[in-house]
Amino acid sequence: MSHSDIKAVATWLREARSVFVLTGAGISTESGIPDFRGPEGVWTKDPEAERTATIQHYMSNRDHRIQSWANRTNSAMQTAEPNAGHMALSNLAEKGKLDLLVTQNIDGLHHAAGTPPESIIEIHGTVLEYACLGCGDRGPIEVMLERVRNGDEDPHCESCGGLIKSATISFGQALVAADLEKAQAAASNCDLFLAIGTSLTVYPVAALPEIALQCGAQLIILNAQETPYDGRATVLLRGGIGETLPRIVELV
Ligand code: NAD
Repeated sequence: MSHSDIKAVATWLREARSVFVLTGAGISTESGIPDFRGPEGVWTKDPEAERTATIQHYMSNRDHRIQSWANRTNSAMQTAEPNAGHMALSNLAEKGKLDLLVTQNIDGLHHAAGTPPESIIEIHGTVLEYACLGCGDRGPIEVMLERVRNGDEDPHCESCGGLIKSATISFGQALVAADLEKAQAAASNCDLFLAIGTSLTVYPVAALPEIALQCGAQLIILNAQETPYDGRATVLLRGGIGETLPRIVELV
């Protein structure tokens, strides 16, 4: 990747009126959390896992829930630390050049990196909390993980008896309408849209760059593999995120 591309992106960031950042699983691979569709992705290695990642499958299949909870108790997401990419975005916010960070990630690492919570939308939810699919009760995931470790392998809600799931949004579940509306409004208002570590294939989030482009924003893509938007990006950065992003932010 050329130094002039890095410098150009830093200049646009400095001069931008409103910066929108969208992140995906690729920003967390350097924290030891595999993505879905990269070369070492969970779904690249096990295509069956993609077919079962729906809310319908979770609700109808007890064995699947038991396996999901067992996986959660020793998931890399519970112990992962933010990496240089997350820290660079936190620094960008400190420099006043990050208006909204929409993440598809459910690992909580943007919060852990110190990016102000009011600047972050976790559009697909979080694994750090549980949610009852019946009454909507929520709480720290650790409460449920403790129950699982103590032998309750498919925990149900103590108030309403409903199914419990991590507070993530699976395929087949609606996004939080207010979050999506806020993200769409910010995308239509930004003049610089940075897409980082995402294959840009999961809708409706993948429509956000389209909204920004139609409203006249420049699109910068930082991703190791192709995305459907590559031909429309002002600059396409193919490097690793943890190496590239700090270089850009340092120059802002
Ligand atoms: P994705 O797996 O579809 O795409 C990730 C992209 O990141 C790939 O194109 C890959 O080439 C690129 N990438 C991986 N590591 C990189 C690196 N170090 N530098 C540069 N590029 C890198 O992920 P997505 O677009 O976010 O969509 C899939 C869904 O996955 C999202 O809905 C998200 O909720 C979920 N997910 C989240 C996590 C997490 O929270 N960390 C992990 C896996 C999946």
